[in-house]
Amino acid sequence: MSDTFKALVLNQENGKTTHSFEQLRTDALPEGEVVVSVSHSSLNYKDGLAITGAGKIIRQFPFVGGIDLAGVVESSESDQYKPGDAVLLTGWGVGERHWGGFSQKARLKAQWLTPLPSGLTPERAMAVGTAGFTSMLCVMALEGYGIKKENGPVLVTGANGGVGSLAVSLLAALGYEVTASTGRMEESDFLKGLGATHILPRDELSRDSKPLERETWNGAVDTVGGKPLATLLSQLQYGTAVAACGLAAGVPLPTTVFPFILRNIGLLGVDSVMCPPDKRLETWRRITAILPMDKLDDLTEVIPFDALPKAAETILKGGIRGRTVVDLNR
Ligand code: NDP
Repeated sequence: MSDTFKALVLNQENGKTTHSFEQLRTDALPEGEVVVSVSHSSLNYKDGLAITGAGKIIRQFPFVGGIDLAGVVESSESDQYKPGDAVLLTGWGVGERHWGGFSQKARLKAQWLTPLPSGLTPERAMAVGTAGFTSMLCVMALEGYGIKKENGPVLVTGANGGVGSLAVSLLAALGYEVTASTGRMEESDFLKGLGATHILPRDELSRDSKPLERETWNGAVDTVGGKPLATLLSQLQYGTAVAACGLAAGVPLPTTVFPFILRNIGLLGVDSVMCPPDKRLETWRRITAILPMDKLDDLTEVIPFDALPKAAETILKGGIRGRTVVDLNR
């Protein structure tokens, strides 16, 4: 019986990142205590940067990307997991510094794994993936700041993207009034289907802003950074906050101190990669308790493994709606 499995292997030639599907053997995998038979992964913005080489995500080649994975433990040298256990993984630098989920097999540290939450299939866990996990962290950051649903609309930027569409779904399910900002107005009905009550054209935020504008938003989840983040900071209601996690619109933040010192605004940074294990369990518990599965299915497309490189190019152009799950056995 063949011990080989399929992986998308990244290499570098003349400073350019290349990719090819290869058959690997288990002994080619990096060190770790647990070997997982990976059934599903997902495509995140960071994966798009890694596969195309558009961002300096990967520094050692050859490399297997994929920051998310779900599957079943095949073998384990750790007391924490045994063969047959269903697990998932997001972050911890997997798919960036350690080989990741774009492979039918992965060898990983036990401490990086999370037991698959009951009520989620591997496919749905990957529909959530890093993007949905990050959305929930953003919502929890706003809750922790004391943002109450009664006090007006919460803004979500990059709403048609993975983090954005899941943030819209989670906030709406919690009873918040959600305004979705998007560059794709033609997807307004999709966003309303997820629970957004108003749609704001991206251009209204992607502009130079005044230090203080009309107080409009009772909090925000920002997935794009740059000028839109600066504009929404100037429009937050007194004493509210934005949970900021992304950079699709740019890295510089052209703001002033005024929203912070005159309106008591909070700029809450959110990182999912190094989120500690206890908070991970709590975050997945909240996701499974809150997220309507029909909405999750509506915003998810499942693609075969071979379609991944093309989809990686598309996500960098802002062309993916919602979440993309990769079925590694299709
Ligand atoms: P997606 O590509 O799925 O979503 C990004 C969305 O941003 C797009 O769909 C688009 O939404 C919007 N967008 C794209 N380009 C621009 C632009 N030039 N100006 C304004 N808006 C733009 O990516 P993800 O949802 O996977 O990730 C979103 C962001 O969050 C990324 O920057 C990613 O790096 C970051 N991220 C951070 C994490 C963390 O731990 N901090 C974890 C996961 C993601 P629309 O068409 O609706 O306008």
